[in-house]
Amino acid sequence: MYGVINNYNPKKDYGTIFVRDFQSDIFFYISEWQNRSQPELGQLVEFDIMETELGAVAVSIVVVDPNKPPKQRTLCPKCTKSVIPNLYNNKKGAPEYLACPFCQSTLQVFGKKSLKKDIVWILGVVALGVAILIFTIMKIYRFI
Ligand SMILES: [Zn+2]
Repeated sequence: MYGVINNYNPKKDYGTIFVRDFQSDIFFYISEWQNRSQPELGQLVEFDIMETELGAVAVSIVVVDPNKPPKQRTLCPKCTKSVIPNLYNNKKGAPEYLACPFCQSTLQVFGKKSLKKDIVWILGVVALGVAILIFTIMKIYRFI
């Protein structure tokens, strides 16, 4: 889960994280802060949610490096675990596919261009061209 530090009180060692998916804040204690630096307002963080007697709190909070894309948890359809996929690169160093770290099943393949989309696009352009041609011919015949 991702959120942004919305509030932090260093004297009381707690704060809140705004979670856009919920449109609300979640509480955190500094004991769950797993970073060297102090929490800063507006910082993007990744965390898990734990239900306690006092409500939901954020745990295992790590700061997300804005230069690296955040690692998205996905549900593996094969082993049904919530996993952070392993990224495998091809020989050129470009991302090739994501795999489940537990069962190694492939979760997503990159770089495969959808042929269907291209065909739909080409057909659209051809249809538009034909329509313009017919319109032009009709206009010419009507006015000659
Ligand atoms: Zn799996």
